[in-house]
Amino acid sequence: MLWGVFSDVHANLEALEAVLGAFEARGVGGYLCCGDIAGYGPQPDEIVERLAALPNLLCVRGNHDLAVLGKMDLRWFNEPARAAVLHARRTLSPTSLAWLAALPERIETPQFTVVHGSPRNAAEEYLVTIQQFHDNCAHFKVSPCFVGHSHLPLCFLMKEPVSIVEAGPLAEGQQVAVAPGVRSVINPGSVGQPRDHDARAACGVYDDDTRTFQLLRVPYDVKAVQDKITNAGLPTFLALRLSYGQ
Ligand code: ZN
Repeated sequence: MLWGVFSDVHANLEALEAVLGAFEARGVGGYLCCGDIAGYGPQPDEIVERLAALPNLLCVRGNHDLAVLGKMDLRWFNEPARAAVLHARRTLSPTSLAWLAALPERIETPQFTVVHGSPRNAAEEYLVTIQQFHDNCAHFKVSPCFVGHSHLPLCFLMKEPVSIVEAGPLAEGQQVAVAPGVRSVINPGSVGQPRDHDARAACGVYDDDTRTFQLLRVPYDVKAVQDKITNAGLPTFLALRLSYGQ
């Protein structure tokens, strides 16, 4: 089956709709979301409603989702991020809050693992270095392990028997084959707030028959969401950074 893999939607409905359209065009049958549904963007409630209606969605919670739920100290967040968490608390319906609160920290199936930050510290660790990949390998059994949190499309593969690590950023269209027994961590990048200097939404598709992941980049109406950020009274910085993919 083909899975649409995505993360860090961050209340950006324009970006999410574009990504879901790209998934539909490829005929995905299920969805994997690595968390951070809320935060930064203007429409957390609409995002939860859209995600809750998707068939075959496997979704974990992120640190911004935990903050919205009052389960993470807001001192961890900078001023713009804190403003967006408070905006989410004001705008999420009780039903949406209950949906967020029910999200697990980790999902493991016979085909893959899904967490937000890293397998050893799902809420807080940015898994971006080869050393961190090594350190995390003892903390998950099933590869690929899909992560989010850094907002950077990345891949780590452990080539046995000599434990050589292949790692690096994932470019648009790049394919990664995850042979059985090869430990791997894949980050599909961020839907709603990419930080790799490419303003387009990032996501990917994973075929669990061929065990192949492909990274996608999807353009969306950045101006429309920037206007909504401004109109919601959120910090201008949160709108501006979307133009630059930062
Ligand atoms: Zn995030």
